[in-house]
Amino acid sequence: MLQHKNAVAKALFNRAGSFQTIPDTKKYIGSSEDRLPPIKTRGVVYQIACKTCTMVYIGQTGRMLEHRLKENQRALKLLDINTSAVAQHAIQQHHRIDWENVTIVDHQQKLHKRCYSESPIRMSGPSMNRDTGLLLPVYNCQTKM
Ligand SMILES: [Zn+2]
Repeated sequence: MLQHKNAVAKALFNRAGSFQTIPDTKKYIGSSEDRLPPIKTRGVVYQIACKTCTMVYIGQTGRMLEHRLKENQRALKLLDINTSAVAQHAIQQHHRIDWENVTIVDHQQKLHKRCYSESPIRMSGPSMNRDTGLLLPVYNCQTKM
C-alpha cells in the first residue's frame, strides 16, 4: 500500500512539475477504515449467527465491533442472560454461537442511521433479538451503544 501511495505521489509530482492538491485522496489511496480488519471497525450493524439453528442476532455499535463482541462473549461465559440476547439464546436453548463468522451488514457512523439500518434486517428472519428495533415499537437506541 505504501508503494502505491508513493507511486501516486510521484506520478502527480512528475506530471505537474510540482506537487498539486489532490481533490479526493481516498479515491487513490483509500480511507484508514478501509485498511482496518472488520473486527476493529467502528460504526457498524453486525450479524451474529447461531451454529445450532437458523437464528441470528442483529446489533449495532458505534464502538469497535471487537468490544461489543467481547461483551456478548463475557455475558455468555458468566451465564448472564440480562445483558446479552445472544447469551440468553445460547444459554436457554443450549445452542452454540458462531463467533468466528460474525458479519458486518452495514457501515454507518451516525447512531440514528445504524438504528434504522438494523431494524428491517432484524425483522427479515428468525432473530435472537428481544425487539424489532426502531420500527415496532419506538425503540430507544441510546441504551445500546
Ligand atoms: Zn440457536
